[in-house]
Amino acid sequence: MVMLQTPRGTQDLLPETTRKWQKVEDLIRNLCDVYGYEQIRTPVFEDTRVFKRENDSSDMVNKEMYTFSVHGEDSLTLRPEGTAGVVRSFVQHKLYGAAEMPAKLYYLGEMFRYERPQKGRYRQFNQFGIENIGMKSPLIDAEVIALGYSIVKALGLNQVKVLINTLGDDQSRAAYRGVLKEHFQGCVQELCEDCRRRYEQNPLRLLDCKVDQEHPAMQNVPSLKDSLTEDSRQYFDQVLQALDDLQIPYEIDPRLVRGLDYYTHTVFEVVSTHPQSGSQATVFAGGRYDGLVEYFGGPQMSGVGFAMGLERLMILAEAEGVKLEEPRRLDVYVMALGEVGTLPLQLATECRAAGYHTEFNVLPRSLKAQFKSVDRHQTRVAVIAGEAEAAEGKVNVKFIDQQKQITIAQQDLIAVLDRYFERGECE
Ligand code: ATP
Ligand code: MG
Repeated sequence: MVMLQTPRGTQDLLPETTRKWQKVEDLIRNLCDVYGYEQIRTPVFEDTRVFKRENDSSDMVNKEMYTFSVHGEDSLTLRPEGTAGVVRSFVQHKLYGAAEMPAKLYYLGEMFRYERPQKGRYRQFNQFGIENIGMKSPLIDAEVIALGYSIVKALGLNQVKVLINTLGDDQSRAAYRGVLKEHFQGCVQELCEDCRRRYEQNPLRLLDCKVDQEHPAMQNVPSLKDSLTEDSRQYFDQVLQALDDLQIPYEIDPRLVRGLDYYTHTVFEVVSTHPQSGSQATVFAGGRYDGLVEYFGGPQMSGVGFAMGLERLMILAEAEGVKLEEPRRLDVYVMALGEVGTLPLQLATECRAAGYHTEFNVLPRSLKAQFKSVDRHQTRVAVIAGEAEAAEGKVNVKFIDQQKQITIAQQDLIAVLDRYFERGECE
């Protein structure tokens, strides 16, 4: 017999863990609601062209995609990120025509990347992300960072910092690409294979290299700052001013260029400074993008967003000692004593319909064993369906904290529970 297991780079989340996840997801949903972001759900797979745009130089697009075709149909890809699908949907449904702009959307779901699995890096993982599309303002860039930051803070993570940079407008980037081409011209052959490709496709991405950091040409690379147009410089200053005013601490990282090709102006990464976070320290990351709405056939519109890795968030929460465990709540346990047929199930169903978290005893067991179940869940009330009482349409109710037991008519059960749970009355 073969023992089948989860595929490499994937994991099962068991109930003990999903309880924690749900708590984090609730917190995320609440804060999105407060900030006026609404959820969008797009397919897990898309036409490959949604992700693979012309001449994209990112690793994600070039090496990490799960791409397949079934029965000779068009090529499909499991989504490696959320933004492209959201923007595709934004255009398909003409959300750009809404009376109120910008569109404020968030998503929460699985992403797939063919990567070398390690702690905090999986082949199927979950991202929460937001997209603010249709308006360009430094205030919105700051607002988006503020939302992500407030989630991390509300969760109780303290050891995080915002790294921020600007890529400037098209003109700034074009100027900087020229500067980089010139700078690396003499030594491009000494760089890694990826860098040689980046040099041709998008020299900006050279700064993103994790292999050649120590190369002298990397060490004294000219700063993008000097290629910025006056407008781009002002835009960035306003973003920073807004962060100052919101008291969000940040560090300017002139080497930060981010992995995707469509970014312009602001790019940021929020990283953990906790010693245990290691090299998988980025909690969420994003930036402003231009050209993406147009790529999908929409009008010229700018957007800004970020994606947050939920597995990493959970790992960091653990490392920082944030308590996410919540014991399973049980209000009522229905016991069975003697031949009572389906009565325990009936009573449990009534209690559940009234909103009480209820379990009932299924197989014949001693009263002592049943009380052990009551204790294990710290249940507040035990309802005892006994054979003799059942014959008279009655049932026993035991209030565990008070150590008090009463006998009542079955039809009064919910009223009795209501009085106890609302006002503490044991009668
Ligand atoms: P990295 O440099 O760590 O590969 P990235 O630049 O590829 O990150 P993004 O595409 O910006 O990451 O994704 C946003 C966030 O999603 C990351 O900051 C991280 O928290 C999370 N993430 C990315 N890839 C994975 C993965 N394979 N497993 C788990 N989380 C991931
Ligand atoms: Mg990556």
